[in-house]
Amino acid sequence: MIDVHCHLTFEAFDSDREEIIRDLKKRLKAVIVSSTDVEDAQGVLKLYAEHPSFLYATLGLHPVYAPDMDDQRLESYLRFIRDRRSKIVGIGEVGLDYHWVKEEARRERMREVFSRFLELACELDLPIVLHLREAIDSGLRMVIDSGVKKVLFHCFTGKKKQAQEITSYGYYISLAPNILKSKDLKRAARTLSLERVLTETDSPYLDPEGGRNTPQNVSLVIQRIAEIQGLSWEEVDHMTTQNAQVLFNLGVG
Ligand SMILES: [Zn+2]
Repeated sequence: MIDVHCHLTFEAFDSDREEIIRDLKKRLKAVIVSSTDVEDAQGVLKLYAEHPSFLYATLGLHPVYAPDMDDQRLESYLRFIRDRRSKIVGIGEVGLDYHWVKEEARRERMREVFSRFLELACELDLPIVLHLREAIDSGLRMVIDSGVKKVLFHCFTGKKKQAQEITSYGYYISLAPNILKSKDLKRAARTLSLERVLTETDSPYLDPEGGRNTPQNVSLVIQRIAEIQGLSWEEVDHMTTQNAQVLFNLGVG
């Protein structure tokens, strides 16, 4: 089992972070922690340094923060990431969020910032982890135009047709615990080629019971995919773990 996207740096884990990580090490092969802004990037790198070969880092900027990022701060953050190329396994999360950002000028800035991260992923030859909320189609067009090859659509919430289009380009989709409840996602997941599927929790968000989510719930996502596709838990675990290792080039057996 690998959780390819979560936020173990968030305040929700302040009281028991080490305990949780200790427990996760018994159950999961690896956990990828994604940063959402400049400060969080420091926390993610620190956590990675404390748990190498188990926790892995991706650095990015959540799209809701992108409209307020001026050029100077953006360039210095891109430089910061470039200088830490050897410590990270991907760029993200980055992308577009049309749910929380409505104003056209702010959306335009969000797209500008996103395209700079797409360029960076190409330059560093790293996978990019996408947050595309109510913006899958425009995000997908930008990804195709950028020429970036290793792409993960994190916490996929789109329709079956969009999932098929994404995978037809060789991009990956990660499914999160919202697949436990959504009928649309069930439909999309039924015909999805397992070779393109990864699993995640987006912890501390998306807890199936409405509380605090933790990466060990990735087992529930695997279980749900297995049910939907008529496979065993082990088959889905094997395939999705392998996919994560390939996409992020993780050195875990
Ligand atoms: Zn996230």
